[in-house]
Amino acid sequence: MRTVIVLFNRDLRVNDHPALTAAVRQARRVVPLFVLDPALAAPPGRTVFLLDSLADLRAALRARGADLVVRRGDPVAETISMARRVGADGVFASSDVSGYARHRERRLVAECRRERLDLRLFPGVTVVPPGELTPAGGDHYKVFTPYWRAWSATRWREVLPAPEALLLPDGLRAGTLPTPTELTRATAPGGRVPGGEVAGRRRMSSWIEHCLADYERGQDDLPGDITSRLSPYLHFGCVSPRELAAEASGRPGAEPFVRQLAWRDFYHQVTLAFPDITWKDYRPRAAGPPTVPDPDQAFEAWRDGRTGYPVVDAAMRQLATEGWMHNRGRLIVGSFLTKTLRLDWRLGARHFAGLLLDADVPNNFGNWQWVAGTGNDTRPGRVLNPLRQAKRFDSGGDYVRRYVEELGNVAGSAIHRPWRLPAAWRGGYPDPLVEPVT
Ligand SMILES: Cc1cc2nc3c(=O)[nH]c(=O)nc-3n(C[C@H](O)[C@H](O)[C@H](O)COP(=O)(O)OP(=O)(O)OC[C@H]3O[C@@H](n4cnc5c(N)ncnc54)[C@H](O)[C@@H]3O)c2cc1C
Repeated sequence: MRTVIVLFNRDLRVNDHPALTAAVRQARRVVPLFVLDPALAAPPGRTVFLLDSLADLRAALRARGADLVVRRGDPVAETISMARRVGADGVFASSDVSGYARHRERRLVAECRRERLDLRLFPGVTVVPPGELTPAGGDHYKVFTPYWRAWSATRWREVLPAPEALLLPDGLRAGTLPTPTELTRATAPGGRVPGGEVAGRRRMSSWIEHCLADYERGQDDLPGDITSRLSPYLHFGCVSPRELAAEASGRPGAEPFVRQLAWRDFYHQVTLAFPDITWKDYRPRAAGPPTVPDPDQAFEAWRDGRTGYPVVDAAMRQLATEGWMHNRGRLIVGSFLTKTLRLDWRLGARHFAGLLLDADVPNNFGNWQWVAGTGNDTRPGRVLNPLRQAKRFDSGGDYVRRYVEELGNVAGSAIHRPWRLPAAWRGGYPDPLVEPVT
């Protein structure tokens, strides 16, 4: 092939990038293209992370003699117009699973056929490609444990090194990238988390070196906060999940961590089979009416971290300030919204999607449905009691003290039951939204 376009989406890296490697091996010239798609406008924190990641990808490609070619508009139209401009023979891209991504892929297939372009889709977004593992008699795994067994037994593709050099066609305008303002960086939730492959790889290596061995012991410890925080890098593809699995595997304590990567893959294969996951119950389930007289007000209290349950409020405030929340926190607030208040999981999922740096369709909506009992949980009726969860996972109250300022002076575990404290100690912290169940 003479010229191939590599269309980047959420695979913003040069290491272990099957589509990029194939293009460099098979074509004389390669156009690494990213299209800023107005239909995917993200909240400020995620936009800053994306722009950092694109700048970093551009630097990596420039170091290899090429550039990141940036355009704005509809990714399919821009790709086809670029293909005509450079006389490309093919378009290579990483395959993805959300409804939007698959619609884009289908349009790309049709347009490339019309233009006689060779379109090839590659793995790269997960460790094991979604749809590769299927149970006997089904198109996807509905329960995690059998998926995990099959996932652990399958052979993973090889990890690919970054290409050494790329050649761009002559005379191509690279296009500019917007730069986030200092104000956005400072004020957006998560705006100060550095995006990009360099930052992601640095975090991957140092976390594996220093924290992986403690992961099983500490993964649910809210104040300990020892999980990898690699989720935004995995979401944008700055870190390859396949390479991360390879780097962790075989080290002391690796299995529980690698298992989380399998959960990530699990939700990708569920989403591939059930693209309506963002709005439709995966398993229909008759929920009872809300347990509160004013559901709108209860949702606002939950959203603003003012439910009167300190562990719930701490987690919601962590989300609002950091654009990230500890997994144990996500489970507690999700259960509180859907099982304690009995409000609709879609409200929670949409709020998360508006703030999380790592928000993505498979993991956000898959997990919300799991928590709400409409998804892949084999015990859909389980309710996480916030007081018991607080006692187990924040026994000394340090997590709550970190995020709930009003209670900052309350010592020890008494912080989890502020309604038992004299009013003067509560600093205006609200009464519980629903009667405490101990
Ligand atoms: C209600 C709810 C919503 C969630 N929304 C998202 C989301 O939008 N995006 C997202 O990436 N994760 C989501 N998760 C899963 C999980 O909470 C985060 O992946 C994790 O907290 C990220 O932190 P970490 O990188 O330190 O994780 P680690 O514990 O270090 O795990 C490593 C990686 O494994 C994957 N992982 C871990 N737990 C899960 C899980 N339960 N499901 C799927 N993948 C997992 C993530 O990619 C994570 O980065 C959600 C969980 C719940 C309960």
